[in-house]
Amino acid sequence: MTKNTGISNNILDLIGNTPLIKLNKITKDLPGNFYAKYEGFNPGHSMKDRIALHIIEEAERQGILKEGSTVIETTSGNTGFSMALVSIIKGYNCILAVSSKAASGKINMLKAMGAKVYVCPAHVKADDPRSYYEVAKRLHAETANSVYINQYFNKLNAEAHYNSTGPEIWKQTNGEITHLVAASGTGGTISGVAKYLKEQNPDIKVLGVDAFGSILKKFHETGEFDKDEIYPYRIEGLGKNLIPTATDFSVIDVFEKVTDEASAHRARELAVTEGLFTGYTSGAIIQATMQYSEQGYFNENSKVVLILPDHGSRYMEKIYCDDWMKEQGFFDSQKQAHAVVEYV
Ligand code: PMP
Repeated sequence: MTKNTGISNNILDLIGNTPLIKLNKITKDLPGNFYAKYEGFNPGHSMKDRIALHIIEEAERQGILKEGSTVIETTSGNTGFSMALVSIIKGYNCILAVSSKAASGKINMLKAMGAKVYVCPAHVKADDPRSYYEVAKRLHAETANSVYINQYFNKLNAEAHYNSTGPEIWKQTNGEITHLVAASGTGGTISGVAKYLKEQNPDIKVLGVDAFGSILKKFHETGEFDKDEIYPYRIEGLGKNLIPTATDFSVIDVFEKVTDEASAHRARELAVTEGLFTGYTSGAIIQATMQYSEQGYFNENSKVVLILPDHGSRYMEKIYCDDWMKEQGFFDSQKQAHAVVEYV
């Protein structure tokens, strides 16, 4: 921020320092106080802005990136958008290798942000030279002064949250936070925030959110996982079918799994109760909070922070589309107890 004026030097100045918002209605029947750390307020509409900025600036400090260098990542989601955003301002080329499964709207969005998008066949194995992993690796090897972000296996991912999201939450709650509820995909957010918070107060409980079809919960509990537990699910960005080294399982106390259906309804409920228009995983985090509460994790004195990872605008064709909800069978089932409005 430019000194003594209200003018930001550029959009990157606005990354981080997201608001902490008290939830007043959706959690009213639960004991305790609940606060949303709403990461949709970042300029790229998700918490991935924080890792994009940190990883790129670290590569600059190491002398890898210079004006005109190239940033490479395999993603069509939030990380891709954030990488493209930071690259624009810093004058880097941004190459994103994405799966042909990615919705065309997402690819257009990345192109609109100046990224060069390689669309790679979804049906090939990860070690096939045409896969998006292999294409990204090859482009990295062939491009001088390039950096491959590799967020699932990059320790700088959690470090970004250790440096920013964690201290913000500690300060915003005056150090009174008792529980953190956060999703785990790469594990960067939950690991970095949890490490910082537990260093301030080891009694803070860190409650993770996983999806049915993912192996994180089982791996956390047993150090192993069963291939049979892996199956496709619809929530994007949470859970995993491999173990990311970016995750520090030692700072997570427990994981809870949530369903696609309950999470989708919770996101819609969050919009119409609190006015928070968020992504699918935010719905998952609300659902997990309800489940943790049912299990007795909270009492009247609890101060619970929920990290809501992104904005709802990226989900218009999915959870906020009634036809999509119907196609999934989410409006037909008997489990409509969570819906707060008549949709059909
Ligand atoms: N929610 C959304 C929408 C995401 O894009 C991600 C990132 N994969 C996550 C949650 C999980 O965050 P992390 O990768 O830091 O564990």
